[in-house]
Amino acid sequence: MSAPNIETIVSLAKRRGFVFPSSEIYGGLGSAWDYGPLGVELCNNVKRAWWRWMVYERDDMEGLDSSIILNRAVWKYSGHEETFSDPLVDCRECNARLRADKLEYTMFAGLDVAEAIRDKGVKCPNCGSTDLTEPRPFNLMFRTQLGAASAEDDPTALAYLRPETAQGIFINFLNVQTTMRRKIPFGIAQIGKSFRNEVTPGNFIFRTREFEQMEMEYFVKPGDDENAFREWVTYCSEWFENLGIAKDNLRLYEQPKDELAHYAKRTVDIRYRFFPERADEERQWDELMGIANRTDFDLKAHSKKPEDADGKRLNPDSTEDLSYFDEATKERYYPYVIEPAAGVNRSVLAFLMDAYSERTTEKGETRVVLKLHPELAPIKVAVLPLAKNKPEIVGMAKAIKRSLQPLMRAVYDDTGGIGKLYARQDEIGTPFCVTVDHQSLDDEAVTVRDRDTWEQERVKVADLQQHLQTRLIK
Ligand code: ATP
Repeated sequence: MSAPNIETIVSLAKRRGFVFPSSEIYGGLGSAWDYGPLGVELCNNVKRAWWRWMVYERDDMEGLDSSIILNRAVWKYSGHEETFSDPLVDCRECNARLRADKLEYTMFAGLDVAEAIRDKGVKCPNCGSTDLTEPRPFNLMFRTQLGAASAEDDPTALAYLRPETAQGIFINFLNVQTTMRRKIPFGIAQIGKSFRNEVTPGNFIFRTREFEQMEMEYFVKPGDDENAFREWVTYCSEWFENLGIAKDNLRLYEQPKDELAHYAKRTVDIRYRFFPERADEERQWDELMGIANRTDFDLKAHSKKPEDADGKRLNPDSTEDLSYFDEATKERYYPYVIEPAAGVNRSVLAFLMDAYSERTTEKGETRVVLKLHPELAPIKVAVLPLAKNKPEIVGMAKAIKRSLQPLMRAVYDDTGGIGKLYARQDEIGTPFCVTVDHQSLDDEAVTVRDRDTWEQERVKVADLQQHLQTRLIK
């Protein structure tokens, strides 16, 4: 099973310290969330798993960490200043600000959303009025000012918080390629924060204005792009499946031409069933990650050489030419780029939803069991003493916890009866509980309990590290 809806995860996340509403003591801040002790571990584990899979387990990959604030010219030539916008509509009745492309207008077949609004055929989802303004583009980039002395409207001080990590990769393409002596095809991976002034953030951590992305730009010879694109779609779907997401809850979506971003030749989204409660099956799915064929758009756009028909440089500000010289064929070209881009936070939400299950005990009580993949679980093992008033047992349990902590995230807990302690660990997805009991003092062995089967096994303390490590690598 998986979570019946996002709300179930919101309450679990708050109750157990995964995610808290941000700035809550001041009434919160629209759709901002803080990651608590377990949430930060889960995010770190997702990022570590992605980096290991994307960078370490391949021979054709390098990593990068570029700045969040880049020269404004980057966003001018990437096309973001001009086109990185959502169509915004205001409701004249209740003043709600709405994203036109998310309004329900499909019943007016043949009309686009602007026409449907003009015909009074679209209702405000907030108040039901049909008195809506024409859609107008709203740029999603957060603006800021650089430098202490800059006046608020000084255009030379204008800068943006990056809305994607990708541009930092493109502008460093030659730096990475030459310093690491890479030959095409190869990729550059980056994980980092991105910012979008979303018109309608919401659905918990699904859409926020500040979020984290895991992106990779894979540079190939023009002509090899379509094949590489197909391979990356398969490879990325497998990543989610291998980390425990049920195949039934994943689906591919081919973006139609009118949905494609300005740089894309083709984009396939990997969708997850984020809204299983919706009666209309089509509306249960939304984007988890996107794989785009960005062609040579970005590298060319940032290069000094390309010219228009009149011989005028398309980019008079760039000092570099980001083309690649192929030694083997003596050809120079702008590589094509395949980009798999996933959100850390959306992935965390999908992993939490898919891991959610409920189980009934012999006493008829319902327990939540979070069946997270061991690699993602915030805590790998909890060491629990069966009697907390027996110093020898407590001492032994604490010593076991200390021996495990350099190798894996281990905790010690004696704040309840054993049934309660097990339930607590099940609910946060801890794969193993180690229990120290009276007999342990004699036989130097402990009980290892499995989260998913609730089966218990007696293991010698001397063999415990090895035993757990083997089982954690599923
Ligand atoms: P959407 O259509 O949902 O706005 P997008 O197509 O604009 O997303 P991309 O630009 O492809 O998103 O970004 C890649 C990934 O980054 C997305 O698949 C998603 O996981 C994540 N992402 C994008 N915007 C947000 C956001 N506002 N909040 C959280 N994650 C986001």
